[in-house]
Parts: sequence; structure tokens; C-alpha cells
Amino acid sequence: MTSPTIGVFALQGDVREHLLALTRLGVEAIGVRRPEELERCDALVIPGGESTTMFKLARTFDLFEPLQKRIRGGMPAFGTCAGMIMLADRITDGTADQVTLGGLDITVRRNAFGRQVDSFEGDLAFAGLDGPVHAVFIRAPWVEQVGSDVEVLARVASGPAAGRIVAVRQGPLMATSFHPEVGDDSRIHQVFVDLVTEHVRKVG
Ligand code: GLN
Repeated sequence: MTSPTIGVFALQGDVREHLLALTRLGVEAIGVRRPEELERCDALVIPGGESTTMFKLARTFDLFEPLQKRIRGGMPAFGTCAGMIMLADRITDGTADQVTLGGLDITVRRNAFGRQVDSFEGDLAFAGLDGPVHAVFIRAPWVEQVGSDVEVLARVASGPAAGRIVAVRQGPLMATSFHPEVGDDSRIHQVFVDLVTEHVRKVG
């Protein structure tokens, strides 16, 4: 079986880091700026960045609707930080005009950790992985509420935000509040690549 092609939404955000992480795992990874590029992909990563800018650019570049259509059609997608916000069905503290692609039956709170802790790092347990993951949070959202089909993959381990949900999966959709593309631990990308490979094997 040929390995899947995974796109990285490339109109805004930390695109290069995700492309590198995927390439390191031996996957064909391409930046997606146009609908034709999206068509070549079996799955998509939506990076961290600024979700309010992302949805506007996606609209300007005629990518918003094709993306929404593919996600509704079952394409696997993995959102990190702003990407998690883009995949959420509901947002708290979004801008008045902010629209998401949706797909994940979750409510996320933007910039949830507050100003004092704009950015922080910490180790946490991630479902299915043996050792802890070192998680980097940058003006991150957290997940306030999950629907019954959503699996919680990770929570903050300690500190004022202890117990907050920061990674989820629902069928072919996965999201983290933090940035697994920072650093050289590829295990979370590997979880997504395995999910995509399994999906492609099933649906062709
Ligand atoms: N706060 C940003 C947003 O609302 C997300 C930050 C990030 O992706 N690092 O989109």
C-alpha cells in the first residue's frame, strides 16, 4: 500500500514544523493553500497560529468550503492550538464574526490559560502513549465541554489548570491545545499518521 499524503493548511501558522514532523515519519506531506492541493490529500493538519486570521484567509482563498466539505465527508484532520479551535463546533471567547470549520463536538475556550500564563510547558500523560509528553502551550485554548462521542486523550497534569482537557479525538478528527510539532518527539504525529493509514485502508 502506498503511504498516505497528508496536507498541512498553509495559509497561516507554524506550517514548516508540521511538514518536518510528518516528513520525518516518512509520510508525503504538502502545504495546502489551494483547493487543488487539498484534493491531493488523504488527510489534513491544521497548525497553530491565529484562528481568527485563519478562517478569514481560508475564505479569501476559497478554501473554507472545500475544507468543510472534506471534513464533513470524513477526511481525517488533526488541529493543534488554533487548529483545534478551527475544528471545534463551538467556541467561547471567539471574536464576534469568528467562524470555525467544525467537526469536533467540543466547546473550546480561546486563550483560556489567561495572560499570566500565556505560554508554558509541562509534561502530561497522553492516551495510548507509554511515557509522558512534553507539551508546549502558547496562548492556548482548552476544551470546556465534550460530546458523548469524544474521547479525551490528555489533561493538564498540575498547576492552576490541572484537569483541563487539552487533547481529544472523535473518529477521524484529533486535536491538541498544545504544539506537538515543537521539539523532536514525533509520537503524537505518529498517532495521527496511524489513524490516517487505518482510515485509508478502510475507505480506500
Ligand atoms: N490564541 C490563538 C487563537 O485564538 C491560538 C494560539 C496558537 O495557535 N498558538 O487562534
